Amino acid sequence: VLLVIVDTLRPDFLGAYGFQQPTSPNLDALAAQGVVFERALAASSRTAPSHASIMTSLWVTEHSIGPANGSTRLNGEVTLAQRFHQAGYDTAAFIGNIVIRRRTGLDAGFDVYDDELPDVELNRSDFFERTADKTTERALAWLGQRGKHPFFLWVHYQDPHGPYTPPAPYDHEFGGLSKKGEKPLRALPRSAGRHGIPAYQVLPGLRLPGAYRARYAGEVAFFDAYLGRLLAAVRERVRERNRPLVVAFTADHGESMGEGGYWFQHGHATTPDLAHVPFVLVAPGIAPGRRSELVHHVDVMPTLLDLAGLPPGEVRGLPLGRFLRKGTPIPERTLFTDIGSDVSAYRGNVFARIWLRGRRSESGTFTWSPAGRWTRQRPDHALLAELRNHASKRKRLSLIPQAFTPTEKARLRALGYIDDPAERPPDR
Ligand SMILES: [Zn+2]
Repeated sequence: VLLVIVDTLRPDFLGAYGFQQPTSPNLDALAAQGVVFERALAASSRTAPSHASIMTSLWVTEHSIGPANGSTRLNGEVTLAQRFHQAGYDTAAFIGNIVIRRRTGLDAGFDVYDDELPDVELNRSDFFERTADKTTERALAWLGQRGKHPFFLWVHYQDPHGPYTPPAPYDHEFGGLSKKGEKPLRALPRSAGRHGIPAYQVLPGLRLPGAYRARYAGEVAFFDAYLGRLLAAVRERVRERNRPLVVAFTADHGESMGEGGYWFQHGHATTPDLAHVPFVLVAPGIAPGRRSELVHHVDVMPTLLDLAGLPPGEVRGLPLGRFLRKGTPIPERTLFTDIGSDVSAYRGNVFARIWLRGRRSESGTFTWSPAGRWTRQRPDHALLAELRNHASKRKRLSLIPQAFTPTEKARLRALGYIDDPAERPPDR
């Protein structure tokens, strides 16, 4: 079982989701062999909460990482890796983002949790990461040492996360991504905010949105090249042993590209630019095709366990393979995206949202299509009530003692990771 999660990946930059330039030949080839979910949703637009929901099939309100990003840990929740480990699988994770390091408890159940981060972001010298080439190399080395056991391998690719600095030739491979009449953006003094380029994203000499889109596309193409190598190696391994292979591919959240005045950032809202993620599933007995029902990060755990012949357990998500194999519709459900100060309930082509603007709470109901923008409609009072009820009950966060050193913490604050609930008392 292979789970690939790409950080900060918008579906609309992938060929399988309609992008017009060849950013993702390997993902597209994978997608052609399986099911493409056109309306998949993230649990959060922040990295740690989303990963925690993927690995536990719990809502953000229900796990002890909660909506915080890097300063809280899982504390006793049963994880996907634990389930595979208990079933006799070899388990390994290779990750590339500082906020999902071992200290977050996401390592539970993994024999190997490789969170060595040898690279440094362009504008944030204390933000360590690892690029796709190095992450893939480690994963391939682990694959090469496998014996007879089945395996669960999770590979996390960090590359599309800003700043958008793909290596040559990916830094100049994509062009023509400027829109008509596009104006240069100013550089923001901080790493969050509207109508400008967040400080951590600023690339020397570049101010036009199209230039950033082109480099983001380059990051996508860069990780995709390594996805190709990873898939080839995994396939060879399972072929040698004559074993079936299940592959799930998704992203932890999207990225704003101008929506609501936000450019090249995430973690500030639960709107579709951030909540809509790619999700591709390939497994024996599942015919290739596309599905338009809503699915969600919480479906990953029960789906993978079920496809591996293990009980999906008492979880929030659904074992999607059962519907795909039978060709029956996936039941309509209300699905949540959550950053604490902003929560949305998605259902069908509508979402209800409650968010804080300053000290004021605002709410609204919107229609959305995966292809485009969202528009406000008449309030759906039932959906808003369901959302209010959902958001009113939150599990107590489990803080990591000294998750960050005082210097790291000061820098995180200065760099715009400001709305981090873990920096407030945990009961808030
Ligand atoms: Zn992320």
